Amino acid sequence: MSLLFSQMVIGEEAMVELGKAIGSSLITASKENQANSALVFFEGDLGAGKTTLCRGILQAFGHHGAVKSPTYTLVESYELDADELNTIQLHHFDLYRLGDPEELEFVGIRDYLQPGNYCLIEWPNRGEGILPAPDLNISIGVVIHEQSEKIDGSSKKVDSRDVKTVGRNVNIMAETGKGNYFLSELIKNQES
Ligand code: ADP
Ligand code: MG
Repeated sequence: MSLLFSQMVIGEEAMVELGKAIGSSLITASKENQANSALVFFEGDLGAGKTTLCRGILQAFGHHGAVKSPTYTLVESYELDADELNTIQLHHFDLYRLGDPEELEFVGIRDYLQPGNYCLIEWPNRGEGILPAPDLNISIGVVIHEQSEKIDGSSKKVDSRDVKTVGRNVNIMAETGKGNYFLSELIKNQES
């Protein structure tokens, strides 16, 4: 059975926190020898918050510097200390500008997906047919919240100036056994 996690996330800071929690679940799995790699997809429109979530994951792995959006470079790689003894390779892809999925073969995608590597991929649909199924598929939707006020007991929509984009609906689906493990860790931690 595939696990599913769904959360409304309001504000950039909360988004980074959720990213950290996702990162922690990947780290726990590695410490408990359940997984030493992960493939995570991020789906959502431009500005949905994919890179923000990746920034949180990178922070969980101890990276506190800037996180460049690899829109033009395709991939940004990080070597991070998993613990005192081990370093891990984390690769952050943004495939928005990928012309053809075949191009992934030329950048050596197979090497990036080797055990020991963690791959976070924005716009994975651009690589359809070449990319394998992810462990976790994260999709982010922008939630527009229209404020309304009560006047004489009936509700009236306020001026369009007051219509605010307040949050993101984040859905995480596990698509492999490993993904189920990551997600069960995440759910456990969010509940406590
Ligand atoms: P993407 O990588 O999907 O194009 P970004 O991560 O660059 O999007 O985020 C775009 C903008 O959305 C940023 O300004 C960020 O602060 C904002 N943002 C991200 N997550 C949230 C959230 N949960 N609520 C409100 N704003 C958010
Ligand atoms: Mg981005």
